[in-house]
Amino acid sequence: MSSLADTIAPQSHHTEAGFRNPFPGFKETRLADFFKWKLFASMKNGKPQKPRKYHFEFLANDGEYLRQNRTDFTVTWIGHSTLLVQMNGLNILTDPIWSERCSPVPFAGPKRFVKPGLALEDLPDIDVVIISHDHYDHLDRPTLKKLGNKPLYLVPCEVGKKLQKWGVRNYIELDWWQSVQHNGLEFVCTPAQHFSGRTPTDRNKTLWCSWVVKGEKNNFYFAGDSGYFPGFKEIGRRYGPFDVTAIPIGSYMPRWFMSPIHLDPGEAVQVLQDVKGTVFIPIHWGTFDLADEPLDMPPKELLQKAEERNLPRQNFWILRHGETRIVAGGHHQVHVPPPK
Ligand code: ZN
Ligand code: ZN
Repeated sequence: MSSLADTIAPQSHHTEAGFRNPFPGFKETRLADFFKWKLFASMKNGKPQKPRKYHFEFLANDGEYLRQNRTDFTVTWIGHSTLLVQMNGLNILTDPIWSERCSPVPFAGPKRFVKPGLALEDLPDIDVVIISHDHYDHLDRPTLKKLGNKPLYLVPCEVGKKLQKWGVRNYIELDWWQSVQHNGLEFVCTPAQHFSGRTPTDRNKTLWCSWVVKGEKNNFYFAGDSGYFPGFKEIGRRYGPFDVTAIPIGSYMPRWFMSPIHLDPGEAVQVLQDVKGTVFIPIHWGTFDLADEPLDMPPKELLQKAEERNLPRQNFWILRHGETRIVAGGHHQVHVPPPK
């Protein structure tokens, strides 16, 4: 019987045609299933399943503290999977998207419900951008063009070629379990169970991943987009425990279609435990309407699942768009503010 280490051995996810999910139990989502889901959703349109409007609290953030800060470990939610993480004096962006829509064209496609939590112009100088995969809601060409060549872009295999086409040349492509050191931090490209593609013909031609960011005093795990898979335990074994984790909780319904590629909130809590994380910051919710669940449902479910497992409420940081939290101010201890 093959061990978990074998199933996620180097190269097991490479194929001649591109990349694949090598994990036991993975079920490929087919294009026909996608159409079945969409057809079913459109048939229900006569009686909408979701409220038409949502109210999300927005915190004004002028970025001044963030531009000054070179010492505190902070996390700011911009929206969707975009976070500004300040660690070790470095400013890091995850899957940055500032565009109005996540789409190949600016006039159609899912539109954002809440403006970005911090204007692009108000950001501190960005040192590193980490990208999990090439889907439009994670790899946003207009945003990358604006960020330009100053940051170092860390991307999974084959994504760099897209950046190059857009004039972004300062990138390093990494395969699963490969890492780079940059100004005192180690960035490790770790597995995820997902897929890739931006056109009908480029499915799985580029790799998808999650990221470990490891400093001398603190560390951070960014899960990208993923279904639940045994790789999380392996990431926890190799790199845990983590002070802070950012784990996706949205785009999970319908489960028959989404479960191989998107976590539901209960599975997301299991991921926190698998990787041995302390603070849980939910991402991939409340910004773009991409699946069947109401946009404000995932955090409610998350807190319920956390409570069922007796996990401390104060470790679940449901950030508002624009909210910054200080994880640690110059010392190792993870500072958890009291519940509101
Ligand atoms: Zn995706
Ligand atoms: Zn996504």
